[in-house]
Amino acid sequence: MSFQIDFGNEKSPIVGIDLGTTNSLVAVMELTGPRILSGIVPSVVSVKESGEVIAGAAAREMLLTHPDRTVYSVKRLMGRGVEDIQEELKLFPFHIAEGSESTIKLKLGEKTFTPPEVSAHILRKLKLDAEAELGVRISQAVITVPAYFNDAQRQATKDAGRIAGLEVLRLVNEPTAAALAYGLDKRKEGIVAVYDFGGGTFDISILRLHDGIFEVLATNGDTHLGGDDIDNLMLRIALEDIQFEWGYDVSTKSDAVQLLRRAVIDAKERLSFVPSASIDLAYGGKTYQREITRELFDKLATPVIDRTLGPCRDCIKDASVSVEQIDEVVMVGGSTRIPLVRSAVEVLFRKRPHTELNPDEVVALGAAVQAGILSGDVEDKLLLDVTPLSLGIETMGGLVSKLIHRNSTIPASATEPYTTAVDGQRNVLIHVVQGERELVKDCRSLARFDLKDIAPMPAGFARIEVRFLIDANGILSVTARDQRSGKEQSVEIKPSYGLTDDQVEAMILESFDKAEEDFSERQVREARVEADSILAAVEKARQNDAYFELTDEERSAIERGVNELLVVYHGDDHLLIRSKIDQLNDATHTLAENMMNTAVRGALKGTNVNG
Ligand code: ADP
Ligand code: MG
Repeated sequence: MSFQIDFGNEKSPIVGIDLGTTNSLVAVMELTGPRILSGIVPSVVSVKESGEVIAGAAAREMLLTHPDRTVYSVKRLMGRGVEDIQEELKLFPFHIAEGSESTIKLKLGEKTFTPPEVSAHILRKLKLDAEAELGVRISQAVITVPAYFNDAQRQATKDAGRIAGLEVLRLVNEPTAAALAYGLDKRKEGIVAVYDFGGGTFDISILRLHDGIFEVLATNGDTHLGGDDIDNLMLRIALEDIQFEWGYDVSTKSDAVQLLRRAVIDAKERLSFVPSASIDLAYGGKTYQREITRELFDKLATPVIDRTLGPCRDCIKDASVSVEQIDEVVMVGGSTRIPLVRSAVEVLFRKRPHTELNPDEVVALGAAVQAGILSGDVEDKLLLDVTPLSLGIETMGGLVSKLIHRNSTIPASATEPYTTAVDGQRNVLIHVVQGERELVKDCRSLARFDLKDIAPMPAGFARIEVRFLIDANGILSVTARDQRSGKEQSVEIKPSYGLTDDQVEAMILESFDKAEEDFSERQVREARVEADSILAAVEKARQNDAYFELTDEERSAIERGVNELLVVYHGDDHLLIRSKIDQLNDATHTLAENMMNTAVRGALKGTNVNG
């Protein structure tokens, strides 16, 4: 990868943007590395009485004077409907003008705005700041989003970019950006944990690096946990002090509370660097001063910091990695400047976390690195940044199991476990297909290969892991691996080869047309696959001693079950097939139990258990 960017007139740079809940930043890749442009832009938008819309620090000032015309934390609303934001509504004074299942509109003064429109004002401010500093027009950007953002939230972020006049070349996950900022993509492989503790949110992500590509293994966190919680604890103490000293309660005076909040935050932030700091307030002709030592601060902050540890442990568990396997820990978010946060993270991960870069700049820096990769590599520019069609493999019954869905941003990867259909099976055919339809016959066949000499196991016991990986150049590599024998086979394909845009379009349209038909066909085939497996199991059980120990009645119920299932098997009523499967299952209940007992008895005999 190279990072040459031509700053000449004909080519303007792609910027990297961290569109944050509290603050946003823009950065650009230069020959010496990524650089933050201008300064932090508070993610606040306000509509002046004149109708003019402002964003950033000036809008944050309006929060004091015109809270009803000012919106913050809009990121929490992106791509969400009224139902989704009930929690947020309790905590934030959003003024909802109208809302539906999938979108809402905010009322600011006389105007209404969708969340992407609000975000667009923040993006436009960042764009203007960057243009002023660089002296060139900016039209393309990479924007970061939380790893857990769903399709709608990602789409809303892209819309915001478009409204702001920016072509969003790629959305990058925030933890991935942080890892890129630290150059961790230069490692060949590894596991990276990204601990992001900001103002109002906590996110922990575990990434796997493979051939320079980051895959999100797991994410966890708390959408309402951050530096704000520490501020609130300190604020409460200060308010109690003041009531005691001044003899009256200032907590009802919103301007006093705002000033005190600023003083508290100021003291908190200084305490990350000095052993003691004071909270100072001058209000209504009186002054208040309270010295806070690091020791007292740590006591206050401990319960808040401890609340980040449970999600970290859960995330490690969900990622199926051990603490020892985690190679690097990256710190993101302003609150990770707190020394106690650093030591708690170090104790939990048993590793010194990366803190060399500014924790509130690292995501924007990483976005700029990604932008540099996109603009540095000429070939990359021609690339689609998403997969136009889904990719998957053939499974039993001629059905497609999709591993990477249409519109996934690349690079992308996915891993799925599969198993064998027949006892003692030694070879597995891996058939890679592309398309949106449910049946293999309606998709485009990309490649076939055999995974040979797998360890023979009863049907359903083998564990074959199939891994799809699309690199930044759009090359798909498919690897099948037998977990037991370690045997592995892989193939490389260029899925876009020989496909025109029109064909892609046609394939997508067709899948819409045939969606209903495909769905019922899939249900029928799935029922048949299940029927096959119970028929095979019954066939096998008939050789078992336990079968002959059944009463005549029990045996004929099984016979009848098999026959009736065979009669409906080729029909297209999946409910009927399933009802016959259930019936056969019931009929074989005693048989299955007897076989199980025999097996247990055999096992006990074998181990020579006494008494
Ligand atoms: P977000 O990701 O939520 O937009 P940031 O990553 O910008 O937020 O972090 C903002 C939080 O970091 C605020 O609570 C702020 O007070 C806190 N913060 C910033 N600098 C320091 C510091 N030196 N010590 C402690 N907390 C800090
Ligand atoms: Mg952040």
